[in-house]
Amino acid sequence: MDLIEYKAKEVFRKYGIPTPKGVLVKSHSELTRVEDIAPKVVLKAQVPIGGRGKAGGIKFASSTDEAKARVSEMLGMIIRGFKVGSVLVEEALDISKELYLGITIDRSAKDHLIIGAAEGGVEIESLPDGKLIKTHVRALAGLQSYQVRDIVSKYPLNAEQQKALADILRKLFTLYVKEDATLAEINPLVLTKDGRLVAADAKLSIDDDSLYRHKEYERVESDLTPLEMKAKQKGIALIQLDGRIGVIANGAGLTMATLDSLEIYGGKGGVFLDLGGTDDPERVTEAFMLLQEANPSVILINIFGGITKCDTVAEGIRNALSNLKKRVPTAVRIRGLNEERAKEILRDAGFVPCDTMAEVARTAVEMERKLGG
Ligand code: GDP
Ligand code: MN
Repeated sequence: MDLIEYKAKEVFRKYGIPTPKGVLVKSHSELTRVEDIAPKVVLKAQVPIGGRGKAGGIKFASSTDEAKARVSEMLGMIIRGFKVGSVLVEEALDISKELYLGITIDRSAKDHLIIGAAEGGVEIESLPDGKLIKTHVRALAGLQSYQVRDIVSKYPLNAEQQKALADILRKLFTLYVKEDATLAEINPLVLTKDGRLVAADAKLSIDDDSLYRHKEYERVESDLTPLEMKAKQKGIALIQLDGRIGVIANGAGLTMATLDSLEIYGGKGGVFLDLGGTDDPERVTEAFMLLQEANPSVILINIFGGITKCDTVAEGIRNALSNLKKRVPTAVRIRGLNEERAKEILRDAGFVPCDTMAEVARTAVEMERKLGG
């Protein structure tokens, strides 16, 4: 689970990591006097994704009126697919240097990995490896003092600032372990003109498998759509995208491959659903009905029957159709266990089953084109 910036900063503060002073607002009327925060403020759209600056999600203001106007502009804006529902209003920092500090899991090394860089504010992936200060930390040993000294010495900072950085690093590592984070990142970690180190941005991903012992995160404002939420409550993995073709597949791998196939033929997934393994036609019906709620113009079904038997899926789809008033053009490919029986059911229900993934993807795209999409 990814925490949105303001929430991540709350956690940072709990661990004593310096963050700018600020307030979260959901409408411009919640802004009273920004001068009480700072003479100059930065307005930051709260969406669970980076790169907001270039997308118009970071603005500055030097008066309450100006700040209110900017907040009104920002609320409701769509930034990289996410609607802005709140804005963080913070003291604008006077930046001398932007640095980077992050901790994540290096699965191939089976260790924690601290990444530092003297150049922050840009996506870390865009920096050449030579500019990264990488240090593995053994989970059982924990972060060692010599490692902290070694890391901070590689930043272009004076002795006092290095001490402040060491303190932030230790706190960030403690936070990362205690909160079961898979990523704790400060980008940029700002060195202000008056020599302070402040976390201007905060990114925190919490391991979903640990949420049972972090109940506090469940109350976090969700970035799921209402339909995604509904699916989640039913235990179905459904994600809404911005295309028009609804995809039902089983297994994460096949689902991703199906979306990629669609792209190859010039189509785009609008909503996808991973049926997972099931042997219950009713569950298939439920999934199919749920997908319909997203109003796809075409549906693509790509199932490989193993644990999930093909005829179970076909039955579920047939039953779902009897509930529907309007039928959406549907391309279907179903292979594996009890395939022949499944195809019979589908043909009886008026479908023309495809044999390959390429064929079903192309068919779905053609169906969409015919609709004038
Ligand atoms: P992101 O692009 O979504 O990761 O948002 P950030 O919070 O990292 O901000 C992007 C950039 O905006 C930073 O790298 C800074 O250059 C700039 N920025 C953010 N906050 C401040 C601030 O308080 N003062 C100044 N001068 N620039 C800021
Ligand atoms: Mn950032």
